[in-house]
Amino acid sequence: MTIRQLPAQLINQIAAGEVVERPASVIKELVENSLDAQATTIKIGIEQGGIKRIQVSDNGCGIPKDELALALSRHATSKISSIDELLNVRSLGFRGEALPSIASVSRLSLISRIAEESHAWQISGDGNEQFESPIPASLPCGASVTVHDLFFNIPARRKFLRTERTEFGHVEMVVRRLALSRFDIELQLQHNGKTVYSLPTAVDTKSCEKRLQILCGQAFASQSLHFEQEAAGMRLSGWMSQPTFSRSQPDLQYFFVNGRPVRDKVVVHAVKQAYADVLFHGRHPAY
Ligand code: ADP
Ligand code: MG
Repeated sequence: MTIRQLPAQLINQIAAGEVVERPASVIKELVENSLDAQATTIKIGIEQGGIKRIQVSDNGCGIPKDELALALSRHATSKISSIDELLNVRSLGFRGEALPSIASVSRLSLISRIAEESHAWQISGDGNEQFESPIPASLPCGASVTVHDLFFNIPARRKFLRTERTEFGHVEMVVRRLALSRFDIELQLQHNGKTVYSLPTAVDTKSCEKRLQILCGQAFASQSLHFEQEAAGMRLSGWMSQPTFSRSQPDLQYFFVNGRPVRDKVVVHAVKQAYADVLFHGRHPAY
């Protein structure tokens, strides 16, 4: 075997193996980009569990016309420029890998408009490293990414996608987590043209509890306690179920650190300990 440099498209597809598992992971990456772009409204529309089509549109800062192609190229990011910044990173992304990875395993189109431009620009690709130059398009300020036919060019990966219903379940879970991590963001989810979630910005107690009720159910919302604690330079807040409410599975447990969903054994264990005296063995609290 001779040693050869891998082609760029293959490098992206290999990276996609880590970043893009299924439609839900595409949505996670796209919504995180919207949040990093300071969007306050994010609309997600999918068809067939996201296998056929995923669209994420936001009202964030947008991408200038001459940076559209760069956004889709590898290791290109606006979020860090030095190792020092990496250690203080506040954004959800910083590796510049998500868009090129997704673009290498789908038919992707990116439309964007920044405030200074009079109209939007669109760039599209069909799984190759080459992109046509941007064409004029119509969009209010922000960005809109559409992903068609995920894994259409990688049959071996497409085969691992599950039924529409299962993929939609994963999407719903990702969207629920995002919606619980940022009450200040207006969020919509549509599936096959039907509205699944339409969540207005939640700022006061009443609107937060309304969102909680939609995402975690009426029973949890009415049988949980809101708490807010501050110590050692950290702040902890949220809702925890009262002992009158418990689950047979640990499936209603969400924990976020600085807005990022985190699943951590130490936290799970600490909560379990705290409830040990008030819940029957085998029952799980919700938070
Ligand atoms: P990363 O998020 O790690 O920087 P991505 O591949 O996800 O890498 O995105 C590349 C770049 O494209 C981002 O750094 C950002 O500048 C730009 N970008 C992506 N999505 C959006 C968006 N919705 N609004 C504005 N800019 C975006
Ligand atoms: Mg990103």
